[in-house]
Amino acid sequence: MTHWVPELLAPAGSFDKGRVALEYGADAIYLAGQKFGLRQAADNFTPMELASIVAKAHQARKLVYVVINSFLHDEDLEALPEFLSQLEELKVDALIVSDLGVIKTIQDHCKRPIHLSTQASCLNSESAKFWRNQGVTRLVLGRETSLQEAKAIKEASGLEIELFIHGSMCMAYSGNCVISNYTQGRDSNRGGCAHSCRFDYTLDFSPMGKSIEKQAYFMSSKDLEGLKLLPQFIDAKIDSLKVEGRMKSPHYAGTVSKVYSEALDFFRLRGTGAHVLQSAEYQDALHSWLLELSKVTQREATEASLVTKAGETSIFSSRDQEDGPYHVAGIVLEALEGQHLLVEVRHAFTTQSTLELVPFKGPCREITLNQLSDLRSRPIEKTKPGQVVRLPWMDGAAPRQLIRQVVVQ
Ligand code: SF4
Repeated sequence: MTHWVPELLAPAGSFDKGRVALEYGADAIYLAGQKFGLRQAADNFTPMELASIVAKAHQARKLVYVVINSFLHDEDLEALPEFLSQLEELKVDALIVSDLGVIKTIQDHCKRPIHLSTQASCLNSESAKFWRNQGVTRLVLGRETSLQEAKAIKEASGLEIELFIHGSMCMAYSGNCVISNYTQGRDSNRGGCAHSCRFDYTLDFSPMGKSIEKQAYFMSSKDLEGLKLLPQFIDAKIDSLKVEGRMKSPHYAGTVSKVYSEALDFFRLRGTGAHVLQSAEYQDALHSWLLELSKVTQREATEASLVTKAGETSIFSSRDQEDGPYHVAGIVLEALEGQHLLVEVRHAFTTQSTLELVPFKGPCREITLNQLSDLRSRPIEKTKPGQVVRLPWMDGAAPRQLIRQVVVQ
């Protein structure tokens, strides 16, 4: 017997990241075309890439949601119908939208289901019922919503609920922020957010009669990490677990998808009963999932408002360091059983580097590199980014798996 678990929805800031997320276990990905999304600095998808990732996802019985969550002006709306007809033809699985004008345009031009973006700040049952009456089928609730509130909104509205479980936080209410507009001239509500809240600022207390200046990261949030609350997400019947991070690396997309999909598999087989949560097996698994997550980011974690309201303990005040202690050394291109792996190098490594293979499922495996050669089988000591090199065969290796490396500071 298996137990119900939610969908795992991963970010796809580019074709590469989308493919990695799907292969490492995400059930669905969300992405944007070249316009209309809120992550204009991400690579985003060309029409050909979009067609290709939708075909790959559907072949694997996975879903693709397209983000159209910018707040648009009349001149922006003109180009939307053409994009919508492409999405209709591709049969993408839903559109994620925040603007009522965009919802109306979608309803006039295509039949794709509409999910309400977190940008629309839906935080209560009455708002949920309003959006249901506008034809929305799923709500991506604001990150200020607790799990308990999300459960009540689902029951009151009958709509599907998507809730963030992991990733960077925004300090403004559901992203309704203009700090980036004023400090960088980049409009955060039209895809230009420069993450200005993560910078250090100087507080000048002189207007208050004190000659003190203090430099601090007082608006910078810790990252959301809801892994330990996963049983509560399942019990609340939250339909979709959303991972933030379209601007982050393929390493992040793969690792976070792998960890949460393995955790969901764990509960799918065992349920979320007290005997499961108190078992040594769960505690060991949780420890190893958290260890994996720590390999992609050094930012401290918070459960934000999922249980109690986020407060000053959610502020990441020490530094703005983002990257974890590992990065991707290469991607397996070919795995010829018993013979070799061909690997495309992303970051240079040597025979002395500490590397590990990240299988699509199961624990990572340390790679002992006593031989390394180029494509013509000539021994080499050091690789270069972009080069294709030959590594000794490893059990369980498969094309497109990541090989990661400890970053030497
Ligand atoms: S600058 Fe920070 S608070 Fe403002 S939209 Fe961007 S992430 Fe959110």
